[in-house]
Amino acid sequence: MFDNSSNPWDRRKFLGAVLGSSSAVFGLVAPDKVLAARLINTATNYRHADYTRYVFGVNGPLDYKSFTLDNPSRLVVDLTQTEMNRVNIPPAPAGSIVSDVRVGVRDGYNLRIVFDLKAPVNPRLILLPPGDGQGYRLVVDLPHDKATTLVARDAADPDSKPKIQTQSTFRDLVIAIDPGHGGKDPGAIGHRGTKEKHIALDIGRRLRDMVAATPGLKPVMTRDSDKFIHLRGRTAIARNAKADLFISVHSDAFRVTSARGASVFCLSQHGATSEAARWMANRENEADFVGGASISDHDQDVASVLLDLSQTKTLENSLDFGHRVLGQIGDITDLHSRRVQQAGFVVLKSPDIPSILVESAFISNPQEEARLRTAAYQKEIARSILDGINTYYAERAPEGTRYAML
Ligand SMILES: [Zn+2]
Repeated sequence: MFDNSSNPWDRRKFLGAVLGSSSAVFGLVAPDKVLAARLINTATNYRHADYTRYVFGVNGPLDYKSFTLDNPSRLVVDLTQTEMNRVNIPPAPAGSIVSDVRVGVRDGYNLRIVFDLKAPVNPRLILLPPGDGQGYRLVVDLPHDKATTLVARDAADPDSKPKIQTQSTFRDLVIAIDPGHGGKDPGAIGHRGTKEKHIALDIGRRLRDMVAATPGLKPVMTRDSDKFIHLRGRTAIARNAKADLFISVHSDAFRVTSARGASVFCLSQHGATSEAARWMANRENEADFVGGASISDHDQDVASVLLDLSQTKTLENSLDFGHRVLGQIGDITDLHSRRVQQAGFVVLKSPDIPSILVESAFISNPQEEARLRTAAYQKEIARSILDGINTYYAERAPEGTRYAML
């Protein structure tokens, strides 16, 4: 999150008071440790024939990266462990592509400089080594128009080895959508003969279309036809696609037709949290046997021990994600359980991909079976899952993704 209002001075004032003198702070703390290791102490700009140039004086080589954003056009420059020393950035020169420059603090010790642009352009950033009586300088050149391409060059002192990386596009977050069952495995069957596998595929396709229409997200389907896929095959598809989230879509069934409402499940590491959940897990896991062959769990079990720590984190994220989806679904339909349930679903066992299983309603309940067949309800469920994805990434966006910029 870009925090325009953060004041980088409060912490240094505090430390200065603690240590007796603010000027002593940098002498007492080793660079590249807790405190900002770099200090920007000057900022100038001027208008060249082809571009506007900003020059930031800095007290040493620094790590930075930059990327551009559209709608509105911006150039974002992130400076690692850097502070700005009461520097006023002069207003943009007349005729410049720049309309404003904003500075904020990220993660408490990284600096972000945002150039608001009147139109998209291809900027050039150069870290100049000391010379001509001056220290290190970060130079940002912004052409007046997109037709101008400035030749990139690395003028920095090779000994300082600053990381220079210009990134103009984001990595899409990959959302794996897993319509349950399929092919010879129909899943649960409603009183009117509705097969769970068809409902799951319908909802999955609607979710896929919504995800595809969302900037920053990319859908991957484990199946997009009425075919059988082993449970381990589903997680393998997600892994091969480098999925960031995994969502298995199902509809519930119970021997009592009055059972109703939607549920969200996550993996249970230490056994199912309830007998009902265990029963459910057994039923959904039967798919591998319906297909005629059970997959050996041995290798996965060894791997899961090795990956136990990361799996714990993944499960935390899964529960958080599941909770958000459950909250959204609770706005559109009754919930079977108001808590995210946990059970030993094989399909949720990816150690590194937060995974949930959504039971969209009870197909064994005649009223809910009828509802599951409607496009309106299928869309509402898909929309709820998408809203859950959006709220999840509003707080947990990985670096380098569009959500990290929102
Ligand atoms: Zn199912």
